[in-house]
Amino acid sequence: MTWVYDFAEGSKDQKDLLGGKGANLAEMTNLGLPVPPGFTISTETCRAYLSEGGEPEGMAEEVTDHLAALEEAMGKKLGDADDPLLVSVRSGAKFSMPGMMETVLNVGLNDTSVGGLAARSESDRFAQDSYRRLLQMFGGTVLNVDSELFSEALDEAKRAKGTDSDLDLDADDLRGVVESFKAIIKEHTGRDFPQDPREQLDLAVRAVFESWNTDRARLYRRQERIPEDLGTAVNVQAMVFGNFGMDSGSGVAFTRDPASGEQGEYGDYLQNAQGEDVVAGIRNTVSLADMAEIDRTSHDHLMDIMRRLERHYRDMCDIEFTVERGKLWMLQTRVGKRTPEAAFRIAVHMVDEGLIQMDEAVLRVTGDQLALLMFPRFDETADRVLLATGMNASPGAAVGKAVFDSDTAVEWAERGEDVILVRKETNPDDLRGMVAARGILTSRGGKTSHAAVVARGMGRTCVCGAESLDVDTKAKEFRVRNGETVREGDVISIDGTTGEVFAGAVPVADSVVVRHFEGEKLDDDLAHAVSRIMAHADGARRLRVRTNADTPDDAARARRFGAQGIGLCRTEHMFLGERRELVEKLIVAQDEEGVEAALAELLPLQRQDFTEILEAMDGLPVTIRLLDPPLHEFLPDLTELSVEVALAEERGEVDERATTLLTHVRRLHEQNPMLGLRGVRLGIQIPGLFRMQARAIAEAAADRQQVHGAPRPEIMVPLVASVRELAIVRAEIDRVIAEVQEARGMKLDIAIGTMIELPRAAFLADRIAKAADFFSFGTNDLTQMAWGFSRDDVESAFFSRYFEHGIFDVSPFESLDQLGVGGMVEMGTTKGREVKPDLKVGVCGEHGGDPLSVHFFDTVGLDYVSCSPFRVPVARLEAGRSVLERR
Ligand code: ADP
Ligand code: MG
Ligand code: MG
Repeated sequence: MTWVYDFAEGSKDQKDLLGGKGANLAEMTNLGLPVPPGFTISTETCRAYLSEGGEPEGMAEEVTDHLAALEEAMGKKLGDADDPLLVSVRSGAKFSMPGMMETVLNVGLNDTSVGGLAARSESDRFAQDSYRRLLQMFGGTVLNVDSELFSEALDEAKRAKGTDSDLDLDADDLRGVVESFKAIIKEHTGRDFPQDPREQLDLAVRAVFESWNTDRARLYRRQERIPEDLGTAVNVQAMVFGNFGMDSGSGVAFTRDPASGEQGEYGDYLQNAQGEDVVAGIRNTVSLADMAEIDRTSHDHLMDIMRRLERHYRDMCDIEFTVERGKLWMLQTRVGKRTPEAAFRIAVHMVDEGLIQMDEAVLRVTGDQLALLMFPRFDETADRVLLATGMNASPGAAVGKAVFDSDTAVEWAERGEDVILVRKETNPDDLRGMVAARGILTSRGGKTSHAAVVARGMGRTCVCGAESLDVDTKAKEFRVRNGETVREGDVISIDGTTGEVFAGAVPVADSVVVRHFEGEKLDDDLAHAVSRIMAHADGARRLRVRTNADTPDDAARARRFGAQGIGLCRTEHMFLGERRELVEKLIVAQDEEGVEAALAELLPLQRQDFTEILEAMDGLPVTIRLLDPPLHEFLPDLTELSVEVALAEERGEVDERATTLLTHVRRLHEQNPMLGLRGVRLGIQIPGLFRMQARAIAEAAADRQQVHGAPRPEIMVPLVASVRELAIVRAEIDRVIAEVQEARGMKLDIAIGTMIELPRAAFLADRIAKAADFFSFGTNDLTQMAWGFSRDDVESAFFSRYFEHGIFDVSPFESLDQLGVGGMVEMGTTKGREVKPDLKVGVCGEHGGDPLSVHFFDTVGLDYVSCSPFRVPVARLEAGRSVLERR
């Protein structure tokens, strides 16, 4: 078993073993870049340490050997009294994790070697500065002393000197700081700072291992869905010094702008500084362009290396470097994080630069990024006053008056005001308020908190965990860190894409990407990038993408967004509004004649609905689902109606209509409507209803054909569990179609299929396929039926608990439960095609627009996915990526 690897032994592809930082240090070393030498203690060692509760056997010896080799290479011994080798001890997991231990620099310094360092460098100040840094970092991260104590002591020294810059502290001042730091350590740990260099090293390594399990790190992993069992590597590296003087410094850089994706030099440099100073805001940094003025040679060398790294990684890189007395050293690189906009632009630019192929460009962007680009944005050029930054829990840009309780949210929203619901955290009682609000802002909780989960489920903008806000729901106000107070009724703006909270109403700008999809001709680099990537994804994909649309407007928009038909046209909306009365008539009808009369009135209205939708989707398939929800959904609420009737009786009045209706509402009332008289059961109970719908569809198709349109309706029967149910309904529909064909003297081509949304249907799909021309998996209901929970009740009630316990890490309503529900989709498809090899199979639940789910549907061989119009581009992109990923 090997625990430790020299930088020269590894490569960038060994992130599992060496962690991201270690793997990339190895890669740069092997590229011949100026990297201070060192070695990596593997993630395996960390896992062994954590499970055995101590360093695994052989590790100490390997560290000794590698340290000896390092000393040999550097010609110095660790912590040597005359000429000390100093090292950094750096944590580095497979995925970058800001929640973990910080790095310890200058390991090897002690009361003696600090003198050696001063003599060799001819700078006492530099030596003392390095020592105080070691004490500070070691004390804080290895010995767990509150780091505030150190920064306070440092501030005190600056105050005593009458300055606020660390540069004004001279060697003696720093010697004083060193003494006070040592005293702090002694006071708070009960022991002296360890003087033995090797002990310092061993303690630091152990602290890195243990930092894997701190609360911060765990929380971060849960939020970012990083597995718990990876462990971290530890990198031990010879120090280089940016704090030597003004001819030295430390910096960070990106090879392109990570915000916009534009080419150019992006970075910050700070003279006479070490490590994180450059990003810690202790002094003002300069840009890389200005660095060129300070040290042209190092600057040009850096540019040269950045170009090399980009060519080598074929991607935008993120870099840490240090200049020691005019010599450039590379300390870190990795493929840089970027905004969605930058991701699309960089991918396409790199194709044009010949660095990558289009296939790879498509793989480098994601559907989630595309979805983010489609939300309206706050206008970045507008004047904005930032109040706080929290977690970007659910994207979007929302503006409204701050309210602090659900009642007010509902009340104000009802009178037409936009409100933002502000809470410390939300619970199921806040649901009404969340529905009524444009956005939700909380001061506590992370991306899996109640507020975040529910807001994402509803598509509401949400910023959560804005911890700097002090929310007082009793006083109906929140206080901002700068002392400002926002009271009920004050307007605020929240950006769920970035987590920012602004004062007042920030103007909202339409997304250029949506404008592009809508067909606007734009001279915009991002729009061009998106367009090219989409074209390539479309060329690669096998899955077709349809939309769920119930209105001609939605259908037309989805078509502009690239939908290849409608996968689900619900008909229930067509029975609402004024048509409710007709549904009432149907329900209270005493006899066959009354039923027929009510249906006859509905028929022309339905036909008109379908004609318009078929026109919007001319030439493309339109799957129309026959009525699915229970009829009482179209009737007044039982309690309200009972009260109304009772009050009338009290006044001695008799409201005939209300009284009759009440009898029927009572008759139709169900304990479990989701499992009640709905779907195909309605069609069997009230055959005239489905016959009327079928006739409306057939006649609409005939009308369209008459005017030389190309209607392609498909009739879909919901909630079938038994092939008999489908066969009975199908026979009726067939007869109606035959009648219409006869009457209109034309041939109509109308497929008849079913939804598979009950476990029994998936299980008996081979039998059901005999009566179906197509299947469409209704994964919303299928998920509810598979888990036995009703979405409306459970999501806000207990899902956040389920996330905490890791029962699932994403809602099965958001991303398909591939094992359970996915298993049924796969089985249903296979069984259906055993009977009808060319059975068309699609999916019409919301999962049709979810990236991971789309990949799954592609892999199991469905013909199409169907999703809401705004998700159509996302599904197109992911369907393409799924194919390219397999190649
Ligand atoms: P993080 O993972 O937080 O970026 P790093 O391990 O990269 O932590 O180290 C923190 C800072 O210390 C960085 O600025 C890094 O460049 C610097 N640093 C790390 N090792 C050395 C070294 N051997 N010599 C000089 N600076 C170093
Ligand atoms: Mg770093
Ligand atoms: Mg359903």
